[in-house]
Amino acid sequence: MDVGFIGLGHMGQAMVRSLLRAGHFVTVWNRTREKAEPLREAGALIADKIGDVCRGDAVITMLADDQAVENVVCRPHGILDSLEPNKGIHISMSTISPLLVRNLTERHAERNYPFVSAPVLGRPDAAEQGKLFVVAAGDRDSIDFVQPIFDAIGQRTFVISETPETANLVKLSVNAMIATAIEAIGETLALVTKSGDVDPKAYIDVLLSTALGTPLYRPYGENVVNRSFKPEFPIPLALKDMRLTLDAGMERDVPLPIVSLIRDHLLEAIAAGDGGCDWSALALVPQREAGIEQPA
Ligand code: NAP
Repeated sequence: MDVGFIGLGHMGQAMVRSLLRAGHFVTVWNRTREKAEPLREAGALIADKIGDVCRGDAVITMLADDQAVENVVCRPHGILDSLEPNKGIHISMSTISPLLVRNLTERHAERNYPFVSAPVLGRPDAAEQGKLFVVAAGDRDSIDFVQPIFDAIGQRTFVISETPETANLVKLSVNAMIATAIEAIGETLALVTKSGDVDPKAYIDVLLSTALGTPLYRPYGENVVNRSFKPEFPIPLALKDMRLTLDAGMERDVPLPIVSLIRDHLLEAIAAGDGGCDWSALALVPQREAGIEQPA
């Protein structure tokens, strides 16, 4: 397929490589153009303007947050000014608010632009290997049409509903669950190690060798015990997701007390100087509160 791709951060770079490997023709655009250069060698075409990535079968946005997506979609000569009615499908894959996705759904519909929301689960290494999970919502025919794109970047696509914003609600809920796992690792590690008699490595070994040794706990448990906080999913993006989850809860009258606590702990991590770390460093906060950890 002929695919446009906007947003070449940690995830976008890796997703473009998977698309190219699967034989798709990919044209890329990024706010900071230099980040596109390494993809030229891999076979991507680099566009000078957003309009040039909106002429194919689909254009994907994989951007940091609501503000970035609004900027790229709604600015003069942005996506809304560049698509053609009933042609290229805009696939929004960023983790953004259900509210913005509702707004984008309306704005695309007014112009007869097909629009699908398809945020992803998985880290940059999974994106590089085409092993993400895609959570898609929108018009069924549009989703079927772009399935080869999802197959190139993901191992499975979950089609949630015909209403695009529901995909974002599901994605945010899963991230909230992952954050509770990291928080739980930090709290229990503080408890077992404070006496000084338990080696943190021994505790994490018990954790990961038993029922909790799942793909959920494993990478975060290993990061914490190895003090490896290279920002694959940086704390500010995690904070953004908890904020969006709480906003969605507010809109629906759903209290989310654990997510509120995690939002505050992420803020605490940033205040302590760990804002440049992976969200695994959230596990250090309860340990600091117990008086046994320093910032990363
Ligand atoms: P990232 O490395 O921080 O990249 C962010 C991208 O957004 C860059 O291309 C950046 O452009 C662009 N951007 C930021 N502000 C912009 C603006 N105002 N106008 C235009 N472009 C702007 O983030 P990422 O890790 O790739 O994540 C991208 C999205 O996927 C986020 O919504 C994130 O929550 C979600 N996600 C991330 C992961 C993960 O593990 N990293 C996993 C699943 C989902 P520049 O290069 O010019 O800065």
